Amino acid sequence: MAGALLSDTRFASTPPADLGPADLGPADFGPADFGLADALARLCRPVPPSGPGVCALCHGCPRPGFATCWSCARVAGQLGWVCPLVVPMSLYVVRSPLHDCLRRYKDAARQDSRRRAARSVTTLLVRFLVDHGDCLRTAAGTGWDYLSTVPSSTGRTGTHPLEAALGQVRELAARHRPTLCRGPGRLGHTRASVNGFSTCRPVDGDRVLLVDDTFTSGARAQSAAAALHRAGAQVVAIVPVGRVIDPSHSPHVSAYWATRVSETFDLGRCCLDGGASRSPGAGSV
Ligand SMILES: [Zn+2]
Ligand SMILES: [Zn+2]
Repeated sequence: MAGALLSDTRFASTPPADLGPADLGPADFGPADFGLADALARLCRPVPPSGPGVCALCHGCPRPGFATCWSCARVAGQLGWVCPLVVPMSLYVVRSPLHDCLRRYKDAARQDSRRRAARSVTTLLVRFLVDHGDCLRTAAGTGWDYLSTVPSSTGRTGTHPLEAALGQVRELAARHRPTLCRGPGRLGHTRASVNGFSTCRPVDGDRVLLVDDTFTSGARAQSAAAALHRAGAQVVAIVPVGRVIDPSHSPHVSAYWATRVSETFDLGRCCLDGGASRSPGAGSV
């Protein structure tokens, strides 16, 4: 089953068969979810492999002649250390269907709308981890012990919406561990801080896959990764569902986006894949 791929350790017990509807509690990731992921793929745009014209860290768009984008360079300078493996599932622009989904799951006024959007976010995330877990393990040179999420850097209180969404999928819920809380350091759009987050439990020696909904400048996610790193954890990778692109920023970003729009998104391919598309659930379910 899908859960077998979400970490190196398999389920210790078999989930009960009498699970309720997916929107009422944790449910297994089943064949219907693979179909839903196929439908949701229409919202996604391909993330190119790192190389000329593609940021070596976040796969966004650097200025011509630079290996990393301005944001990644700035965040790396502020933190002194960044997680070198950032693997977004999709690119997106604001006011696109994926942007709408990634906002609605957090901010929609109606609870049923938030739940539907949350199911879309978790479906994309599970499908990505199932199909590309091996890519992540190969690139990182190791697997991970558990998933962790990035807390809000703003005034949002309570459980972060992504953590709540992970709780809807049994495989994700079983493998998620909250590790971070907000620290005293100031965080902003392009302001990272080594004290922006602190660990709320011992993580020394743990291998952590940091998952997030969106990646804009990386200030928030990399500050979270830095807090884990400082506490002795190995941050295997940062996996955001979407990396936002602003084509109006400059002609080269506009050209970068035009190229992505001309390409076909394929769930079986990630920005770490050099070759052929992977089969759904390859290796596992
Ligand atoms: Zn970058
Ligand atoms: Zn892959």
